[in-house]
Amino acid sequence: MVSRFVKLTALCITILFGVQMVACSTVPSQATPLQDTATIDFSTLLVSLTFDDGVADNYLVRTDLAANKLRATWYIISGFVGTPGYLTESQLHDLATDGHEIGSHTVDHVNLIETRGAALSYEICQSRVDLMQMGFEINTFAYPYGHFDEAARQLVIDCGYNGARTVIDGPELIPPVDPFALHSMPYIVKDTRLAKMQRYITEAAEGGGGWVIFIFHHVCSGCDQYSIEPAVFSEFADWLGEQQQMGLVVKTVGEVIGGTIQPPVQP
Ligand SMILES: [Zn+2]
Repeated sequence: MVSRFVKLTALCITILFGVQMVACSTVPSQATPLQDTATIDFSTLLVSLTFDDGVADNYLVRTDLAANKLRATWYIISGFVGTPGYLTESQLHDLATDGHEIGSHTVDHVNLIETRGAALSYEICQSRVDLMQMGFEINTFAYPYGHFDEAARQLVIDCGYNGARTVIDGPELIPPVDPFALHSMPYIVKDTRLAKMQRYITEAAEGGGGWVIFIFHHVCSGCDQYSIEPAVFSEFADWLGEQQQMGLVVKTVGEVIGGTIQPPVQP
């Protein structure tokens, strides 16, 4: 049987620029880890996997995560649970039973900096109330599109969350500068390669450490710009599971943030 790693693709680039240069290299058809991670010190690193919006195809990765003893955080739009294209309440319970964190991502996925007053309070507090009524312990929040202002941040605190995730400026420091504005790596999009996701981790480790928070949306074959191929996610989960066995700490956002689960707060 031919290993996937010995299926090689020849890549030749010819550059004509005064002098003719021909560069030929052989690259594997599938990405392999860039370096021997045995030499990397993971002791100053944390990794979290987050999935935004609770779209139905996310249920696919439950098996990959369980097989590799990885637990993730799902930021759920409470008003969309069980509607076409979104995870059902029963599926969310399956994820929670597996040890994953269910977090809040508002009621309607509105842009919070364009939302004011009672509507803002409703989006942030009511989503937590709704998800807690379904039986989930809701500890952390993710700002839709990463957009927030001081009013939204204050309501996240007032509504009983212990932390909130943005979408930029990762890796985050340990401990975070502001638990209510957690920095994340850039969105994983359909042309994000496995090697790039691996580099987010290895480069943070080599740069002195930090908290590397990944943001996934769809898990599908190109159904959306914000998607990852199921096969690529499987490879990433397998690799991450191996690193975890070698000492890399992968936790849910809520586990890193800690704190006690506060009672629901009505908007
Ligand atoms: Zn979202």
